Amino acid sequence: MRILLSGGAGFIGSAVLRHLIQHTQAEVANVDKLTYAGNLESVASVSDSPRYHFYQVDICDSAALDQVFAAFKPTHVMHLAAESHVDRSIDGPADFIETNIVGTYTLLEAARRFWSTLDDEGRSAFRFHHISTDEVYGDLEGTGDLFTETTPYAPSSPYSASKASSDHLVRAWHRTYGLPTLITNCSNNYGPFHFPEKMIPHMILNALGGKPLPVYGDGAQIRDWLYVEDHARALVKVANEGQVGETYNIGGHNEKKNIDVVRALCALLEELAPAEKPAGVTRYEDLITFVKDRPGHDVRYAIDAGKIQRELGWVPQESFETGIRKTVQWYLDNPAWWQRVLSGDYRLGRLGESNVS
Ligand code: NAD
Repeated sequence: MRILLSGGAGFIGSAVLRHLIQHTQAEVANVDKLTYAGNLESVASVSDSPRYHFYQVDICDSAALDQVFAAFKPTHVMHLAAESHVDRSIDGPADFIETNIVGTYTLLEAARRFWSTLDDEGRSAFRFHHISTDEVYGDLEGTGDLFTETTPYAPSSPYSASKASSDHLVRAWHRTYGLPTLITNCSNNYGPFHFPEKMIPHMILNALGGKPLPVYGDGAQIRDWLYVEDHARALVKVANEGQVGETYNIGGHNEKKNIDVVRALCALLEELAPAEKPAGVTRYEDLITFVKDRPGHDVRYAIDAGKIQRELGWVPQESFETGIRKTVQWYLDNPAWWQRVLSGDYRLGRLGESNVS
């Protein structure tokens, strides 16, 4: 397999990349613009592999994408590059429209141009796998329902609306042009190398710094959490074994209220990091502060992952309890990674690292 992986310097993309290099024989081209969310230090453990290639390219840049397709000749595209932070999408939606919608369109067209040059065998083996979110389905508040692959789309935020648009484009490129596409919609991920603006790492690092732990509203919002390495295994399975034209929901059956997640993190820090507790803090939990809720905040997301389990035999390996323990331990063991993110030093020395000018 020759996999063109967009967004491989991000949180989930880097987990996919590490998995592909460490556990398969695939050649991987990491196509990433390196926005604030891209961090090559997250793939440092595999970047010496001769099977790893890096292209610093914006997925909105059609000509640069054509060069990458021509040079790398992928058999698979796994498309993860996106603007991914809901709060940023509320403050400034433009980048979300540009990367998530225009960027997906531009990548689809570059893939289609390349795909049309392949022989029959190459065309039928080619896959374009689009990675998306359960947030496209909207809010399950007040119901006991789960999101299935046929749940109607009802996105609430600029982020989820832009991802919904990109999903529709991918389906249309399959139906109209016959491009062999697959879509996956996954619940909230957590784990190592998660950028500290997201809730779980933000809470861990604020607690270790003796800063308030800001919980939106009353903290009763429910998310369905999945350990990132379980997601990475699911994605590689879908790219390899999924049925063209199909959608697969991915989730861990771990519905938790936000406040319970924060309390679980505090309890783990009490157990694993008693010595790191900042002066003046009696219990990590005392740092919890309730703040004004996010506008349009969805109350509940929950995934029915039955289809991928039945059809492809994927099941998560981590429970929430084992995964969250590993995650807290990882942040305790890897201060160099997150200190360089917090200081901004991870962005140094980025230019000149690309194979494409
Ligand atoms: P992330 O923000 O950590 O990483 C995004 C990556 O994309 C970064 O490396 C960034 O540099 C790159 N990128 C952004 N704009 C680009 C552009 N124009 N051109 C090229 N590269 C660009 O995101 P993530 O959390 O790893 O999410 C990856 C994908 O998975 C996204 O499509 C997201 O919608 C989806 N997803 C995320 C979650 C989650 O919980 N994080 C859950 C379900 C689905």
